[in-house]
Amino acid sequence: MQRYFVDIVNNEVILSQDDVFHLTKVMRCKVNDNIEVVNKATHTAYLAVIDSISPLKIHIQEPILKESELEKDVSIFFALAKSDKNEFVIQKATELGAKRVVLFQGKRSVVKFSNSDFSRKEARYISIAKEASEQCHREYIPEIKYVKSIKGVKEYLEDINLLAYELEAGKATDIESELKEHKSVSIIIGPEGGFDESEVSFLKELGFKLVSLGKRILRCETAAVYALSVISYLLEK
Ligand code: SAM
Repeated sequence: MQRYFVDIVNNEVILSQDDVFHLTKVMRCKVNDNIEVVNKATHTAYLAVIDSISPLKIHIQEPILKESELEKDVSIFFALAKSDKNEFVIQKATELGAKRVVLFQGKRSVVKFSNSDFSRKEARYISIAKEASEQCHREYIPEIKYVKSIKGVKEYLEDINLLAYELEAGKATDIESELKEHKSVSIIIGPEGGFDESEVSFLKELGFKLVSLGKRILRCETAAVYALSVISYLLEK
């Protein structure tokens, strides 16, 4: 069943213009059809019924009690990567339950963002996160942030912060116990060129713990999906 993030004002369900178009023209909904809506303000999901198409009128039928968020806050720092890898990681991080994606300019990032680049892409990134949240039936849309360099990660630290470092590849890692002991977790993934030693030193001073993502050197986008898959599996098993 289709899910939309909406505003609910005085019991009136208000969809964005894009979502009205999607529901009426793409999904060709009919009167008495059910949809799911999530109140953006309270992150509460409801079963709703379509009362009329033009104008679109919807009423709330009942709350949906099944929640799909992870029990702990999980965020990912992802070094800017080439082409649509950033969009891919935003979509997959959303499906895997992340509450925040922070893009950063790694020293060895091939892609360089000018000051205006992120703001030009931000709306698209947010739209990708919103659509992915609706598709996987979440109650939250992850925040998408950008920091110019690795120094900016200080603003978004979690209770435990893990540094997926390629030179740790194959060494023993105990992400599971770190998760058990802490309220929230972040994982940082370097760019195609990997982490610069000065970045690793800076992150270690911030308290990041080095972790391996296995014996093989993964592409940055694979590493992001692997790390978030491990974390969400461990939190939900
Ligand atoms: N250029 C680096 C090299 O050849 O060693 C590889 C960088 S890798 C493509 C991009 C990022 O993915 C790394 O900076 C790291 O964050 C993560 N990564 C990939 N494989 C990993 C592994 N086995 N253990 C930990 N992190 C890994």
